[in-house]
Amino acid sequence: MRRLRTRAARPPWWLEPGDEPCETCLVLHHLELMIHCEGCDELVCIVCVIERGEPPQNLCPSCAEELR
Ligand SMILES: [Zn+2]
Ligand SMILES: [Zn+2]
Repeated sequence: MRRLRTRAARPPWWLEPGDEPCETCLVLHHLELMIHCEGCDELVCIVCVIERGEPPQNLCPSCAEELR
């Protein structure tokens, strides 16, 4: 029995390259997945963002480093 080749599923939009570069890892992300660092207002991607403090703040790695 021949299996019909299913058309290659398009990757979900969040796996396609976006157009907003993360300052930390320099990967292009979608703006929807970027977070503003609460320390320097730099755009950080969800991969690089670090939660620090009480209440937790979303920080870029360099701000998280300073907070230590
Ligand atoms: Zn990043
Ligand atoms: Zn920062």
